[in-house]
Amino acid sequence: MVKKGLLERLRDGVVIGDGGFVMALEKRGYVTGGAWTPEAVIEHPDAVQQLHKEFLRAGSDVMQTFTFFSTDDTLQVKHPGEEGYSYKFFMYVEEMEWAIEEVTKSGLPVVASMCIGLKGDYAGVSAGECAVRMARAGADVVGVNCLFDPYMTVDTIKVMKSALDEAGLKPFLLTQPNGFFTTGTGKEGYLSCPEYPFAMEARTVSRFDVHKYARAAYDLGVRYVGGCCGFEAYHIRAIAEELAEERGKWPAGSAKNKPWGQNNVLSSSPFIRKRVGRQYWESIVPSSGRSKPPSHPIDPKPQ
Ligand SMILES: [Zn+2]
Repeated sequence: MVKKGLLERLRDGVVIGDGGFVMALEKRGYVTGGAWTPEAVIEHPDAVQQLHKEFLRAGSDVMQTFTFFSTDDTLQVKHPGEEGYSYKFFMYVEEMEWAIEEVTKSGLPVVASMCIGLKGDYAGVSAGECAVRMARAGADVVGVNCLFDPYMTVDTIKVMKSALDEAGLKPFLLTQPNGFFTTGTGKEGYLSCPEYPFAMEARTVSRFDVHKYARAAYDLGVRYVGGCCGFEAYHIRAIAEELAEERGKWPAGSAKNKPWGQNNVLSSSPFIRKRVGRQYWESIVPSSGRSKPPSHPIDPKPQ
Protein backbone atom coordinates (compact mmCIF):
# COMPACT_ATOMS: atom_id res chain seq x y z
CA MET A 1 0.00 0.00 0.00
CA VAL A 2 1.30 3.43 -0.91
CA LYS A 3 1.49 5.65 2.13
CA LYS A 4 -0.24 9.01 1.96
CA GLY A 5 1.96 12.05 1.83
CA LEU A 6 1.61 15.14 3.97
CA LEU A 7 -0.61 17.07 1.57
CA GLU A 8 -3.00 14.13 1.06
CA ARG A 9 -3.24 13.72 4.82
CA LEU A 10 -4.00 17.42 5.26
CA ARG A 11 -6.60 17.23 2.52
CA ASP A 12 -8.26 14.25 4.21
CA GLY A 13 -8.16 15.39 7.81
CA VAL A 14 -5.97 16.64 10.60
CA VAL A 15 -2.23 16.24 10.99
CA ILE A 16 -0.86 16.58 14.51
CA GLY A 17 2.60 18.04 14.96
CA ASP A 18 5.08 17.60 17.77
CA GLY A 19 6.02 19.73 20.76
CA GLY A 20 9.12 21.43 22.11
CA PHE A 21 12.16 19.17 22.03
CA VAL A 22 14.96 21.47 23.21
CA MET A 23 13.08 22.84 26.20
CA ALA A 24 11.85 19.40 27.27
CA LEU A 25 15.36 17.93 26.99
CA GLU A 26 16.88 20.89 28.85
CA LYS A 27 14.56 20.14 31.78
CA ARG A 28 15.65 16.52 31.62
CA GLY A 29 19.32 17.49 31.72
CA TYR A 30 20.38 16.76 28.15
CA VAL A 31 20.46 20.22 26.55
CA THR A 32 22.32 23.38 27.58
CA GLY A 33 19.82 26.17 28.26
CA GLY A 34 20.61 29.35 26.36
CA ALA A 35 22.66 27.65 23.64
CA TRP A 36 19.82 25.23 22.79
CA THR A 37 22.07 23.19 20.51
CA PRO A 38 21.22 19.54 19.78
CA GLU A 39 24.41 17.64 20.64
CA ALA A 40 22.24 15.27 22.72
CA VAL A 41 21.69 13.44 19.41
CA ILE A 42 25.29 12.26 19.70
CA GLU A 43 25.74 12.26 23.47
CA HIS A 44 22.41 10.78 24.57
CA PRO A 45 20.54 9.40 21.55
CA ASP A 46 18.39 7.27 23.87
CA ALA A 47 17.03 10.41 25.55
CA VAL A 48 16.16 11.97 22.19
CA GLN A 49 14.56 8.73 21.02
CA GLN A 50 12.51 8.42 24.21
CA LEU A 51 11.04 11.89 23.76
CA HIS A 52 10.15 11.02 20.16
CA LYS A 53 8.39 7.90 21.45
CA GLU A 54 6.41 9.99 23.92
CA PHE A 55 5.24 12.44 21.26
CA LEU A 56 4.34 9.51 19.00
CA ARG A 57 2.26 7.86 21.75
CA ALA A 58 0.63 11.21 22.42
CA GLY A 59 -0.62 11.37 18.84
CA SER A 60 2.02 13.25 16.83
CA ASP A 61 1.86 12.39 13.14
CA VAL A 62 4.93 14.44 12.34
CA MET A 63 8.09 14.71 14.39
CA GLN A 64 10.73 17.11 13.27
CA THR A 65 14.37 16.13 13.35
CA PHE A 66 16.14 17.27 16.47
CA THR A 67 18.42 19.71 14.68
CA PHE A 68 17.43 23.08 16.14
CA PHE A 69 20.38 25.51 16.15
CA SER A 70 22.65 22.92 14.54
CA THR A 71 24.16 25.24 11.98
CA ASP A 72 27.94 25.72 12.19
CA ASP A 73 27.71 29.23 13.63
CA THR A 74 25.33 28.38 16.47
CA LEU A 75 27.29 25.27 17.39
CA GLN A 76 30.18 27.58 18.19
CA VAL A 77 29.97 29.14 21.62
CA LYS A 78 28.08 32.39 21.34
CA HIS A 79 29.24 35.54 23.03
CA PRO A 80 26.92 38.35 24.08
CA GLY A 81 26.52 40.93 21.37
CA GLU A 82 28.01 38.78 18.65
CA GLU A 83 24.78 37.52 17.30
CA GLY A 84 21.12 38.28 17.53
CA TYR A 85 18.33 35.84 16.85
CA SER A 86 17.43 37.34 13.50
CA TYR A 87 17.68 35.03 10.52
CA LYS A 88 17.61 31.96 12.76
CA PHE A 89 13.98 31.65 13.67
CA PHE A 90 11.98 32.87 10.68
CA MET A 91 11.20 36.35 11.92
CA TYR A 92 11.55 38.04 8.53
CA VAL A 93 9.33 37.12 5.61
CA GLU A 94 12.11 38.12 3.23
CA GLU A 95 14.33 35.35 4.57
CA MET A 96 11.40 32.95 4.45
CA GLU A 97 10.85 33.71 0.77
CA TRP A 98 14.51 32.89 0.02
CA ALA A 99 14.15 29.61 1.92
CA ILE A 100 10.93 28.66 0.12
CA GLU A 101 12.51 29.49 -3.22
CA GLU A 102 15.35 27.04 -2.48
CA VAL A 103 13.21 24.29 -0.96
CA THR A 104 10.65 24.23 -3.77
CA LYS A 105 13.47 23.05 -6.07
CA SER A 106 13.29 19.69 -4.25
CA GLY A 107 9.78 19.06 -5.54
CA LEU A 108 8.71 18.07 -2.03
CA PRO A 109 5.77 19.69 -0.21
CA VAL A 110 6.87 22.94 1.41
CA VAL A 111 5.81 23.84 4.93
CA ALA A 112 6.61 27.45 5.86
CA SER A 113 6.18 28.66 9.41
CA MET A 114 7.22 32.00 10.90
CA CYS A 115 7.58 32.91 14.55
CA ILE A 116 5.53 36.07 14.45
CA GLY A 117 2.46 37.33 16.23
CA LEU A 118 -0.25 39.84 15.44
CA LYS A 119 2.33 42.61 15.11
CA GLY A 120 3.89 40.97 12.08
CA ASP A 121 7.53 40.35 11.21
CA TYR A 122 10.61 42.18 12.45
CA ALA A 123 10.76 44.42 9.40
CA GLY A 124 7.21 45.63 9.97
CA VAL A 125 5.49 43.42 7.41
CA SER A 126 1.99 42.55 8.65
CA ALA A 127 1.10 38.97 9.59
CA GLY A 128 -1.43 38.90 6.75
CA GLU A 129 1.09 40.00 4.17
CA CYS A 130 3.64 37.48 5.48
CA ALA A 131 1.10 34.70 4.90
CA VAL A 132 0.32 35.91 1.38
CA ARG A 133 4.00 36.21 0.51
CA MET A 134 4.78 32.70 1.85
CA ALA A 135 1.94 31.23 -0.22
CA ARG A 136 2.92 33.18 -3.35
CA ALA A 137 6.53 32.03 -2.92
CA GLY A 138 5.26 28.47 -3.23
CA ALA A 139 4.57 27.17 0.29
CA ASP A 140 1.92 24.44 0.42
CA VAL A 141 1.44 24.90 4.15
CA VAL A 142 1.64 28.32 5.79
CA GLY A 143 1.63 29.08 9.49
CA VAL A 144 3.15 30.29 12.70
CA ASN A 145 5.13 28.63 15.45
CA CYS A 146 6.82 29.47 18.77
CA LEU A 147 7.07 32.75 20.73
CA PHE A 148 3.36 33.07 21.52
CA ASP A 149 0.76 31.16 23.48
CA PRO A 150 -1.96 29.07 21.84
CA TYR A 151 -4.66 31.74 21.98
CA MET A 152 -2.46 34.53 20.64
CA THR A 153 -1.32 32.16 17.90
CA VAL A 154 -4.92 31.45 16.90
CA ASP A 155 -5.50 35.22 16.71
CA THR A 156 -2.52 35.52 14.36
CA ILE A 157 -3.51 32.67 12.06
CA LYS A 158 -6.99 34.18 11.87
CA VAL A 159 -5.54 37.39 10.46
CA MET A 160 -3.34 35.40 8.09
CA LYS A 161 -6.29 33.39 6.85
CA SER A 162 -8.32 36.54 6.13
CA ALA A 163 -5.47 37.98 4.08
CA LEU A 164 -5.03 34.69 2.20
CA ASP A 165 -8.77 34.51 1.50
CA GLU A 166 -8.73 38.05 0.22
CA ALA A 167 -5.84 37.21 -2.09
CA GLY A 168 -7.63 34.08 -3.30
CA LEU A 169 -4.88 31.82 -1.91
CA LYS A 170 -5.67 28.50 -0.25
CA PRO A 171 -2.59 26.96 1.34
CA PHE A 172 -3.05 24.60 4.26
CA LEU A 173 -2.68 26.33 7.62
CA LEU A 174 -0.35 25.38 10.48
CA THR A 175 -0.11 26.42 14.12
CA GLN A 176 2.58 25.31 16.59
CA PRO A 177 2.34 27.71 19.54
CA ASN A 178 4.29 27.73 22.76
CA GLY A 179 2.96 26.01 25.84
CA PHE A 180 3.34 29.18 27.91
CA PHE A 181 0.98 32.10 28.43
CA THR A 182 2.46 35.20 26.82
CA THR A 183 -0.33 37.74 27.27
CA GLY A 184 0.88 41.29 26.80
CA THR A 185 4.22 40.48 25.18
CA GLY A 186 5.49 42.33 22.12
CA LYS A 187 7.07 40.90 18.99
CA GLU A 188 9.53 38.85 21.02
CA GLY A 189 6.77 36.82 22.66
CA TYR A 190 7.98 34.56 25.45
CA LEU A 191 11.59 35.70 25.04
CA SER A 192 10.57 38.97 26.71
CA CYS A 193 9.07 37.28 29.78
CA PRO A 194 11.42 37.81 32.74
CA GLU A 195 10.87 34.15 33.61
CA TYR A 196 12.30 32.97 30.28
CA PRO A 197 13.88 30.45 30.02
CA PHE A 198 14.32 28.88 33.45
CA ALA A 199 11.20 29.77 35.44
CA MET A 200 8.38 29.46 32.95
CA GLU A 201 6.47 26.77 34.84
CA ALA A 202 3.82 29.08 36.31
CA ARG A 203 3.01 30.24 32.77
CA THR A 204 2.52 26.70 31.47
CA VAL A 205 -0.81 26.09 29.76
CA SER A 206 -2.93 23.22 31.04
CA ARG A 207 -4.06 20.32 28.88
CA PHE A 208 -7.53 21.82 28.99
CA ASP A 209 -6.23 25.10 27.57
CA VAL A 210 -4.86 22.97 24.76
CA HIS A 211 -8.26 21.39 24.16
CA LYS A 212 -9.68 24.89 23.62
CA TYR A 213 -6.78 25.82 21.36
CA ALA A 214 -7.12 22.69 19.23
CA ARG A 215 -10.83 23.25 18.76
CA ALA A 216 -10.42 26.95 17.92
CA ALA A 217 -7.64 26.22 15.42
CA TYR A 218 -9.59 23.40 13.79
CA ASP A 219 -12.77 25.47 13.52
CA LEU A 220 -10.76 28.20 11.84
CA GLY A 221 -9.59 25.72 9.22
CA VAL A 222 -6.13 24.89 10.55
CA ARG A 223 -5.33 21.28 9.65
CA TYR A 224 -1.74 21.03 10.87
CA VAL A 225 -2.06 21.46 14.62
CA GLY A 226 0.88 21.08 16.98
CA GLY A 227 3.03 22.87 19.52
CA CYS A 228 6.48 24.35 20.04
CA CYS A 229 8.55 25.24 23.14
CA GLY A 230 6.77 24.28 26.35
CA PHE A 231 4.48 21.79 24.63
CA GLU A 232 5.06 18.48 26.35
CA ALA A 233 3.70 15.13 25.21
CA TYR A 234 0.55 15.45 27.34
CA HIS A 235 -0.25 18.74 25.59
CA ILE A 236 -0.01 17.01 22.21
CA ARG A 237 -2.22 14.25 23.59
CA ALA A 238 -4.83 16.88 24.44
CA ILE A 239 -4.89 17.94 20.77
CA ALA A 240 -5.28 14.31 19.69
CA GLU A 241 -8.09 13.77 22.21
CA GLU A 242 -9.94 16.96 21.28
CA LEU A 243 -9.79 16.01 17.60
CA ALA A 244 -10.23 12.23 18.11
CA GLU A 245 -13.60 12.19 16.37
CA GLU A 246 -12.33 14.13 13.35
CA ARG A 247 -9.31 11.82 13.14
CA GLY A 248 -11.31 8.65 13.80
CA LYS A 249 -8.82 7.45 16.38
CA TRP A 250 -7.43 7.98 19.86
CA PRO A 251 -3.74 8.22 20.61
CA ALA A 252 -2.00 5.28 22.29
CA GLY A 253 -1.15 7.60 25.16
CA SER A 254 -4.83 7.90 26.06
CA ALA A 255 -5.08 4.25 27.09
CA LYS A 256 -4.43 5.10 30.75
CA ASN A 257 -6.23 8.39 30.76
CA LYS A 258 -9.88 8.89 30.15
CA PRO A 259 -10.61 12.38 28.84
CA TRP A 260 -11.74 15.16 31.13
CA GLY A 261 -10.50 13.54 34.29
CA GLN A 262 -12.95 10.63 34.18
CA ASN A 263 -10.27 8.53 35.88
CA ASN A 264 -10.88 10.64 38.95
CA VAL A 265 -13.85 8.42 39.81
CA LEU A 266 -11.21 5.88 40.81
CA SER A 267 -9.78 8.20 43.42
CA SER A 268 -10.19 7.05 47.02
CA SER A 269 -10.97 10.60 48.19
CA PRO A 270 -14.58 11.73 47.72
CA PHE A 271 -13.66 15.42 47.40
CA ILE A 272 -11.25 14.61 44.56
CA ARG A 273 -13.75 12.30 42.87
CA LYS A 274 -15.96 15.33 42.30
CA ARG A 275 -13.37 16.90 39.96
CA VAL A 276 -14.62 15.14 36.88
CA GLY A 277 -15.94 16.17 33.51
CA ARG A 278 -15.46 18.75 30.82
CA GLN A 279 -17.49 21.39 32.61
CA TYR A 280 -15.38 21.25 35.76
CA TRP A 281 -12.02 21.28 34.03
CA GLU A 282 -13.01 23.93 31.51
CA SER A 283 -14.36 26.30 34.10
CA ILE A 284 -11.54 26.41 36.66
CA VAL A 285 -8.85 29.06 36.42
CA PRO A 286 -5.65 27.37 37.62
CA SER A 287 -3.78 29.21 40.35
CA SER A 288 -0.02 29.67 40.42
CA GLY A 289 -0.11 28.60 44.06
CA ARG A 290 2.06 31.52 45.13
CA SER A 291 0.95 33.92 47.82
CA LYS A 292 2.56 36.96 46.18
CA PRO A 293 1.50 38.48 42.90
CA PRO A 294 4.04 38.36 40.03
CA SER A 295 7.15 40.29 40.99
CA HIS A 296 8.04 41.27 37.45
CA PRO A 297 6.05 43.04 34.81
CA ILE A 298 6.59 41.89 31.26
CA ASP A 299 9.52 43.74 29.75
CA PRO A 300 8.58 44.56 26.19
CA LYS A 301 12.13 45.47 25.17
CA PRO A 302 14.53 42.71 26.22
CA GLN A 303 18.23 43.54 26.11
ZN1 LIG B 1 9.64 27.09 20.10
